[in-house]
Amino acid sequence: MEQNIPRQPKPLQQQAVKLRPTAVTADRNRRELIISWNDGHQSHLPFAGLRAVCPCVECRGGHAHMGQPPDLDKVRATLNEGVTLEKVEAMGSYALQFVWSDGHYTGIYTWEYLRQADSLG
Ligand SMILES: [Zn+2]
Repeated sequence: MEQNIPRQPKPLQQQAVKLRPTAVTADRNRRELIISWNDGHQSHLPFAGLRAVCPCVECRGGHAHMGQPPDLDKVRATLNEGVTLEKVEAMGSYALQFVWSDGHYTGIYTWEYLRQADSLG
């Protein structure tokens, strides 16, 4: 006989230790995305570098390449011009979706991925 036990929500402490941004700003003059994290770190991510490591299946070249961390050389070495960030959309509470000026928008950048894209940590 099955019992219907209601699921308990996770305690707040467990959620609080997760790395989360406290503020996200697209600086179109400096051409970088600025993320303030809940551990006090601030990431400055160049638009073109972020675009270059777009995690979508199309840019990754197939499902076999999904789920890998961003290529930091690409983030750093991509010339930061030619592409700008048109729009930032929150995907639930776990990721951001960017609309780039070249029309591409299918990449979903998780918090973890965005933090990994920051070569300074
Ligand atoms: Zn893509």
